[in-house]
Parts: sequence; structure tokens; C-alpha cells
Amino acid sequence: MADEKPAMTCGIDLGTTNSAIAFIDEHGKAQVIQNTDNERITPSVVLFEESEVLVGKIAKNSAVAAPDRVVQFVKRHMGEEGWVKNFFGKEYTPETISALILKRIVQDAETVSGGKVGSVVITVPAYFNEVERKGTQDAGIIAGLNVVSILNEPTAAALAYGLDRLGEKKRVLVYDLGGGTFDVTIIEIDGTKIDVLATDGERRLGGIDWDDEIINLVAEKFQAEHGIDPRSDVEACQDLRNKAEEAKMSLSKLDKVRILCQCKGKSTKVELSREEFEKITKGLLDQTETYLGVVLEKAKLSWKDIQTVLLVGGMTRMPAVVQMIQRVTGIKPETGINPDECVAMGAAYYNAVLALQAKPSEEPELALAGEVLKEAMDEEVMILLQGVEVTNVNSHSLGIVGIHKKTGKVVAHKMIPKNTPIPVEITKPFGTEKADQASVIIKIVEGESENPEDCTEIGTCEIKDLPKGRPAGSLIDVTYSYSVDGRLQVTGKDRISGKEARVEIVRSSGMDAKEIKDAQKDLVQVEVG
Ligand code: AMP
Repeated sequence: MADEKPAMTCGIDLGTTNSAIAFIDEHGKAQVIQNTDNERITPSVVLFEESEVLVGKIAKNSAVAAPDRVVQFVKRHMGEEGWVKNFFGKEYTPETISALILKRIVQDAETVSGGKVGSVVITVPAYFNEVERKGTQDAGIIAGLNVVSILNEPTAAALAYGLDRLGEKKRVLVYDLGGGTFDVTIIEIDGTKIDVLATDGERRLGGIDWDDEIINLVAEKFQAEHGIDPRSDVEACQDLRNKAEEAKMSLSKLDKVRILCQCKGKSTKVELSREEFEKITKGLLDQTETYLGVVLEKAKLSWKDIQTVLLVGGMTRMPAVVQMIQRVTGIKPETGINPDECVAMGAAYYNAVLALQAKPSEEPELALAGEVLKEAMDEEVMILLQGVEVTNVNSHSLGIVGIHKKTGKVVAHKMIPKNTPIPVEITKPFGTEKADQASVIIKIVEGESENPEDCTEIGTCEIKDLPKGRPAGSLIDVTYSYSVDGRLQVTGKDRISGKEARVEIVRSSGMDAKEIKDAQKDLVQVEVG
């Protein structure tokens, strides 16, 4: 059809509690696309019915009535081995459930915009490890999407913020506290160069933990009054969870709230002031404060070197967060960006950057999308995006398990230390253990400890068919190559024969290629509403 709209260049913020999608409009600006409920963010909540799956507001509202058929906060389990849910005889992994969320978001975006979602960039917390990144990418593939990159959330936020303010050189601190994850990142924006200087955080710290404090306080009062713990009743507990979250959000505006807890025909009303709320959650906020110092130190900077603080994630609407950051950094956080939307917008911009910079000989499809963008886009914006360069750092050390030559101890040797600018390729030689060794198994680990037991094994790879007659200690050059989207490739090269073994990592957890394909086929048949 001659007047068919070109596919949209999109960015998706796949959040723990909420998700959002943005596209690049005809002027080259990122715009959030509403869902079919006329909302700009969609709860990342899934309700399983016999004949269909519901995602979003309805699923969230059903959490009380049908808690055992609702899945929330699945992002916290991304890539987790053995985490599966069973509904109506079907097994769902974190990746397949995330794919259902993506499917609904994309479906809605297409319905509302009347266009087609083309390539997508999906964001992840900066602190996500290799397995969690791979899980996110797999979720996109299962949903049938063309995932061109995985981008760190703070980088996306900085991109959305920075594109309007280019020309100024500044260092930006991104404090991202969402529903389930937390990270702090220091980024330098210089012209169209965006460099991540340091990043750190907790993959399991977020709004849910603040909600839990309220739940515990109310439940204990209820128990003291009625002798029943509402947390042990699934429905009452879910109801209390919703009310705790509402109370937390109201306390960002009001001085006090009342929470009605109901269980087994009994009820208790608890009054909670902002002051008391801040007192019971102080430990959580303090944890985030510690990371501010850690990241500043890692970037080898002091607060006077930082010009801007960006707040990302719904939790940053809490006055206590703003006050703490202002007290520690001496900087009033920027209010010009929407903490719920800037990540999806930044992801869409990054997708446009990749498309505009793609070489037709290497990435024909993406380059074609770039051509389509160029035709419509304002020239000024196009030149800007074409010049964008993003340099990231890795958030976890990547190592190899080996035997220490002198001590004979099994150690995790760091190949790419944490906070190394990426993309990076590092090669180090390792000796074979025995004479005539035919194969070498490389154990890949992630973590900061020298002890392999304290690290996470993310996979292994094997260099096979080594030439015969080699003595013990024959050298194998092992190369770790880490791409901008935080994905790892491992290569081993035998020094004597020059034989190279580029090896696909066999991952310790997550899904393999066949499982992804099967899940993709399965998902096509699932009705998502
Ligand atoms: P995100 O993952 O960025 O969507 O953030 C979601 C988290 O932010 C949830 O835990 C929400 O309860 C929380 N949140 C959203 N709005 C507010 C608010 N006004 N005050 C406090 N927390 C909020």
C-alpha cells in the first residue's frame, strides 16, 4: 500500500512495576504512546485466565480477587534459574511472562498510533548482570520483537535529558529508584558524547521494600488487636499491599493517611504520618545514600564536579528522597524530566541513533529504518542524533576460574573489572593444566570476589580438539569481549597452532535457543488483552 505508515522506531522501558513505550515522531522527537486505557504507563502485572492473559490495569486490580493467578514484579526474577509459574497446565518463565507484558504494550501502541512497531531498544537497570540482560533480550524475541539493543536505564534517562541541552559540558548524577531496582550512575555529557563514568546499585531494592515496611507495621497492629496475621491470608495480604502502595504515594503529598486493613471479617484502621513512614523506612533510604558516596568515589570525583542530578523512577517523588539527595550532593534535583517517561524516550532516541548510524552493508534493515527517519526528521535533530556517542561501563566484574600458578588454589581471575569503559576486549594467556590436554573448559563468572564460590557462574565454554603433543602449561589466549549493550562473547586461541575457538557461551541459567523459539511459537497463540 502506497500510504502505509513506515514502521516506528521505538524504545521500551520494561519496568518492575510499570512499563512504557515511546517512538520517534516525524520531527525526530521521542513521544510516549498511550495504551488503550488512555494511560502513558502500563502496570507490569499479568492476570492468567483460562482462555486469555490480561496485562496492565485490569490485572493489577484483580490482584486482590485472584492473587494466585496474578504475577507482579517479575523483573526481579529475570534470568533466575528454576523460577517458573504454572497456569492452566502451561509453564511460564520470567522471560515468557515479560514477553506477555511486551506483547500487550506493543499491541496497544500499534492500536493507538495506527502504525507498526519496528525495531525496539529495551532498557535494563544499569546493575543488571549478564544473565538478566540476556533474559530481557530473550523476552523481546519471544514477543516477536526486533530487539536491536539493550540499554541501561540511566543512560537512556541521560540521553532524553541531554538531547535538549547539548553544547553544555556537564556531569550528571542519575538516581534511579523504581518499583524493584535501584541504581546510581554518574554520566558525563559533552557535546554529543555521553560517557558513563561509574555505576552501582542494588538489583533488589525498590518501592516494594517501602511498601513492605507499611504492610508489616499495619499487620502487626492488626494482629495485636485481633490475634490474626493478615499477611498469612493471600487475599487480605494482596489487599494490604495495594493499600500500602496507595498510602506511600499519598504520603508524597499529604502529611498523614489512614489505612484500613481487613481480614476474615475483622478490620483495623491505622493512621500513618509522613514522619513515621520516613522513620520506618530510613534504613532503606540510607542504603541508597551509601551508594551515592560509593559511585562518586568510583568516578574519582567530588560533589563540586557534578552539575546536575536527574531523578528517575516513581519512588523519587517521595520528598525524603529529594531532601536526602540535596543534603548529600548540595544540588537541587532537576525537575524538567518526567521520571516515569524519560527512560522509554531515551531508549527510542538510542534506537534512532543506531538506525541513523547503521551501515547498509552491515545492518541493512536498521539502515533502512534510518533512511526512513532521515526523510521525515528535522535536519538539526538528525545531525545531532548522528553524532551521538555513548560509552558505558560494566557494572560487574567478569572473570575466569583458574588455578593460581604459585598457590595451586582455585581462584576467580578478573578479566574485565567492574566499571571498565565498554565496549572492551581483553585478552589474557592461560596455561593448560596437563600435558596433551585435548580440550579446555573456561568457566565464566561474574562478581567481585577472588573466591569462585562467592561469584555467580554465568556459563562455560569449551575449546575442543586442541593439537596433540602439547606440554602442560601450553598457552591459550582467552579473550573476553563485552559489547555496549552489556553482552559478552568469549574466545580462546591456541598459541601454538593458532587455532581459534570462538565459543557460544552455554549459560548456567536462562533459556537456550530452542526454548526461546518454542516459547515464541507458544506466545503467538496466547490472546493478550
Ligand atoms: P517505576 O518502577 O519507575 O514505575 O516506579 C514505580 C514505583 O514508584 C512504585 O513502587 C510506586 O509505588 C512508586 N511511586 C509512584 N508514584 C509515587 C509517588 N507519588 N510517591 C511515592 N512513590 C511512588
